[in-house]
Amino acid sequence: MNGKDNERASRSLRGIGVSGGRACGKLHFLRRASHGKRPSSPARSPREEWSRLQDALHSASQQLSDVLTHARSAVGEQEAEIFEIHRMLLEDEDLLDAAKEGIDGGKRAEDAIGDAARGVREMLLSLNDPYLSARAADLDDVASRVVGILSGSDETEQRDDSEPYILVADDLTPSETVMLDKSRILGFVTFRGTPNSHAAILARAMGIPALLDVGEIDVQKEGTVALLDAAAGILTLDPDEEQTAAFLEKQRTEDRIAREHDRYLRSLMQKPAVTRSGHRILIYANIGDGSEVSGALSNGADGIGLLRSEFLYLGSSDYPSEETLFSAYRSIAEEMQGKRTVIRTLDVGADKQISYFGLPKEENPALGFRAIRICLAREDLFKTQLRAILRASAFGSLSIMLPMIVSVEEVRRSRRLLLECMSELQAEGRSFDPQIEFGIMIETPAAAIMSRELAAEVDFFSVGTNDLAQYTLAADRQNPSLLGLCEENTEPVLRLIKTAADAIHESGGWIGICGEMAADLGLTQRFADMRVDELSVSVPYLLGLRGRITECK
Ligand code: PEP
Ligand code: MG
Repeated sequence: MNGKDNERASRSLRGIGVSGGRACGKLHFLRRASHGKRPSSPARSPREEWSRLQDALHSASQQLSDVLTHARSAVGEQEAEIFEIHRMLLEDEDLLDAAKEGIDGGKRAEDAIGDAARGVREMLLSLNDPYLSARAADLDDVASRVVGILSGSDETEQRDDSEPYILVADDLTPSETVMLDKSRILGFVTFRGTPNSHAAILARAMGIPALLDVGEIDVQKEGTVALLDAAAGILTLDPDEEQTAAFLEKQRTEDRIAREHDRYLRSLMQKPAVTRSGHRILIYANIGDGSEVSGALSNGADGIGLLRSEFLYLGSSDYPSEETLFSAYRSIAEEMQGKRTVIRTLDVGADKQISYFGLPKEENPALGFRAIRICLAREDLFKTQLRAILRASAFGSLSIMLPMIVSVEEVRRSRRLLLECMSELQAEGRSFDPQIEFGIMIETPAAAIMSRELAAEVDFFSVGTNDLAQYTLAADRQNPSLLGLCEENTEPVLRLIKTAADAIHESGGWIGICGEMAADLGLTQRFADMRVDELSVSVPYLLGLRGRITECK
């Protein structure tokens, strides 16, 4: 090929590489079902349109529960939290009031919610605050989901008949990014986008080579061969043979190094995670539901350190029955084959709202009626959970854990209810583990300060550092502008953990950490020094943590 042909055939585009990695394949342009189409049929009565909107909001909420579950196992809890925020946006009062007004004024549900979202979005953008601007992008994602459901076009085109490809899109929403099928997508390229967008953060966490902000690519390029070098920030279209050969050689070398590292980490899975001075730390997984158990086991989890039992409530339109809870817990207990599974009783309220609970709106939900406070106020709700866990404990090794404890009295009241449930089950002739472990989360400064007294009441502690940091540093965990503050100020939180660790060890119990700090490899040595017994992290972090522990003193 002469120089001129080469120039015509091959073209390089520069963009912002947000993850490492390379991909070589054909371009495929994302085609979305168009949400903006104006319907030809007129609006029905406001009552009917409002009820259509309610149904669509409910479906969107269920879809987002699935996205959240998928995201937790694909990218870990911290990155997945954005979808929790999306679910909350479905209940945003300003949005729904504006939509209602539109419907009362004669609009169809899809137009009313679309227009309402645009209004709220513009208002948020006008405030020039980075946190609120990020919320505006989230609102777009959520509103287009609801409009898509209402107009029957909520499916993004799936292409499963072809070889894997490099996806091209103007931009990707967080939910589109996290739902990308990694077995089919070699990498993705967007016309716009910023390195701190949720799509970029998620791509990094998923290990997908991604290049943003390359400018528009003509859709005629569908099927064109391209080389995507995310680390260098370059997309080469129509590469010549020489370029392709050099690119593939580098890719092979990088893949080999990554495989060797992975093989090394996997080889550690066969052995207990022990520091060089001989302290064993159990490596447990945090999971959001039973579908994550097999991933946890295949990544070497020694147990489950946190099962967020909310999933059974969030994914349902009414209170799940004892039978429903029992059968979910029983399956998990059986799949874990004797490995410990810590089930946290319901932690709703604050950032996790469920409409059928009918909880009042609060000024400060994080400081409000949530978790154990709700369970102790509604004993029937609490006892249903305790009975279900107890019954499932006959099928594996289960532990009960209470969230958001601030006082000894809460633990005592909870234990009284647990004993009541045991007596009832015994009278009914049902089996359960009478020695079931009973523990609490340390996620309030009060619990850490009172840890000596609390340790006398329970078998174990597990530190929820997400909430413990939030309450210790007075920094809302949902506010991205404060992330730096939390990252820079770990010391007060670490001291509280040390207080709790000493207290529970003195009383003969064990302590784990199940908040995000457990996955921070820069802190592993500190936890080993405190003789922490267990670290529980989301599935993608299990292997790396195991490797890190073996390097600790
Ligand atoms: C925590 O607070 O650290 C925790 C593990 O609980 P959640 O993130 O579910 O509030
Ligand atoms: Mg918590």
